[in-house]
Amino acid sequence: MNIITTLAHMKAERGQMTGSVALVPTMGYLHEGHLSLVRRALNDCDNVVVSIFVNPSQFGPKEDFERYPRDEQRDLESIRSLFSPHPRLGRGGRGVRTVFIPSVEEMYPADFDDWVEISGPLTQLLEGAHRPGHFRGVTTVVARLFRVIEPQRAYFGQKDAQQLRVIRRMVEDERLPVEIVPMPTVREPDGLAMSSRNVYLSPHQRQAALALPRALALARRLVMDEGINDAEALRNAIEAALTPHVDAPRRGASTTLSLDYVSISDEQTLEELDIIDRPALVLLAARIGATRLIDNTIVAPKGLPASDELRPPIAADGAALPSPTSDF
Ligand code: AMP
Repeated sequence: MNIITTLAHMKAERGQMTGSVALVPTMGYLHEGHLSLVRRALNDCDNVVVSIFVNPSQFGPKEDFERYPRDEQRDLESIRSLFSPHPRLGRGGRGVRTVFIPSVEEMYPADFDDWVEISGPLTQLLEGAHRPGHFRGVTTVVARLFRVIEPQRAYFGQKDAQQLRVIRRMVEDERLPVEIVPMPTVREPDGLAMSSRNVYLSPHQRQAALALPRALALARRLVMDEGINDAEALRNAIEAALTPHVDAPRRGASTTLSLDYVSISDEQTLEELDIIDRPALVLLAARIGATRLIDNTIVAPKGLPASDELRPPIAADGAALPSPTSDF
């Protein structure tokens, strides 16, 4: 496995590759969610490049860039342990060929002026409104990676649903020759979406964070089993389910859930819906103490055939999301 730190070296390495090339962009501190993307890439393509770069330009000035968790050695061990299960490849199969770990100076030299920005509601809504400049940072770094690595396929998690759609839009707008492969959210057995930021949570905060996947499970049940199609009614039900956590003064501010938004939007454009008459995304963003968490699920009106992306979200151990009937 080659560990590459410069753009020039990465370009040269790309020149040596034959066959198809996959890219899995990450910010490191890898967990099963990231690894599911790498496994899929290994299954699909001849060469897999994993990038690890904590991208400063996608963090706001008051956000957690400095304290974002990092553990390069552990990440490299995790990546090394992965192999394509392809039987034709014999013992152990094929592993990740290249890990690209550039420095901030390498990606953003002093004269850097090559920003890539997608305009319009898709980047201004939701995460865009709460994290100004975030998507400009994301599209800039991903476009830069695409230009150097020239992958045929790049893998992104549905966990960051808005980011996935912004990247798709960027690829369309810039006519980039890369297929964006969406991957389902991997969850802990209790339903919490895996995230590098979960390490910030105390045991009590982690418990409080379970309100998010439970509220999403409730949303799925109300829309897909009970046939609720009024978005306002659904939003109210979700907010009511989260309220005990929003006002939990006795357990102290550090376990209080502070909601940034509950959004019910068109699954493709992320424009808010009044009536759920097509597949919709339910997106939640909340803060617990100093930690910001996002999660989402896709719901479809009762009776509409469920596509792959509409099947119940899965945990790392293959279990479905927990039932919404719980003690919150
Ligand atoms: P990050 O390191 O957080 O920037 O994430 C890198 C990639 O992994 C992004 O495409 C994320 O959407 C994806 N990802 C993060 N968490 C998960 C998860 N729990 N399940 C699936 N994909 C994930």
